[in-house]
Amino acid sequence: MPFKKEHDIVDELSKLLLDIMMLGKPPQVPARFGSVDSLNTLHANLISLRDFLYSASNGDLSRQVAFKGYIGGALKTLQANLKHLIWQTKMIASGDFTQRIEFMGEFSQSFNAMVTQLDQTLKELVRKEAELSQVNEELLKEINIRKQTEVALRESEEVLRLLAITDSLTGLYNRRHFNELAEAEIRRALRYTQPLTAMMFDIDFFKRVNDTCGHASGDMVLKLVAKTTKEMLRATDIPARYGGEEFIVLLPETPVEGASAIAERLRRRIEDTTTQTEKGPITITISFGISEYLGETNSEPTERILSEFISKADQALYASKDAGRNRVTVYKPDEELLQ
Ligand code: GH3
Ligand code: MG
Ligand code: MG
Repeated sequence: MPFKKEHDIVDELSKLLLDIMMLGKPPQVPARFGSVDSLNTLHANLISLRDFLYSASNGDLSRQVAFKGYIGGALKTLQANLKHLIWQTKMIASGDFTQRIEFMGEFSQSFNAMVTQLDQTLKELVRKEAELSQVNEELLKEINIRKQTEVALRESEEVLRLLAITDSLTGLYNRRHFNELAEAEIRRALRYTQPLTAMMFDIDFFKRVNDTCGHASGDMVLKLVAKTTKEMLRATDIPARYGGEEFIVLLPETPVEGASAIAERLRRRIEDTTTQTEKGPITITISFGISEYLGETNSEPTERILSEFISKADQALYASKDAGRNRVTVYKPDEELLQ
């Protein structure tokens, strides 16, 4: 087919190149130029350039540049650098802050500054975290020590409290604490008009135990009496070591008959118990005195009521001693003391 005028041909080819650059769907080489190899190569290279640029602008760097030379080489270098940048970014993300970009001018500078800053900030954070965790650890230790001190303090307070209210040999309440508890019981008996009994008892001929078997054996006997007494009582009863070998038990809400029965059982149990001492086996006996307080209206001070109440038990105890020991005597007003 004959060519048009030269000007028209140049115009047509220029339009073809512009369309390849401008249009979304690039035109093919018109059939009449199909035999022009250089045009076909130019067309193919421009299409390849288009595809590459379009993909790269959308973030896809996988497309190959299908031609060589100045532009092809520059594109390949750009593609390789961008791929390397992606790899470096991944390395930074995984904690390698030694990565630096060298090929992108101003971007490289600010990117590298960002990585340096990130590196320093993270290092500072790690240092602060270590510092904090050490402070935390020290605080936890401190809290632990304080807790332990608190527990020890509470325990020693409890030990001191017990020491203050108990007799160290027998573990029974001491006389002072007994009096405090007893006054409260007197007030309660008064308020509710309830019977309250006091059971006082004393080891018979205890001096002989000390004299013949030694003081340590005497202590052993005192402990035995205390232990046996505790075993026979209810939780609400109040036992105490009143003097050397003299004991007292307050039995709330208990009439005299009940107290006598308990005393009699305790008396028998002690009488039947043999204690081994360095000087051989011994048995001891106990004498009891019991008094009852019925909670009747009384205008006297509690302390006075208590001391009269205990004095009556004491009188009954000495009646037991007088009558030959190893027995239980109940105090009865205006009468002979009954056994
Ligand atoms: P009675 O039958 O009249 O009660 O005679 P007793 O020998 O038991 O009474 P006495 O009051 O003559 O003696 C009491 C003894 O108790 C004298 C004292 O040394 C002894 N005693 C007091 N407290 C303790 C103690 O804690 N341990 C020992 N081993 N003996 C003690
Ligand atoms: Mg005695
Ligand atoms: Mg005595």
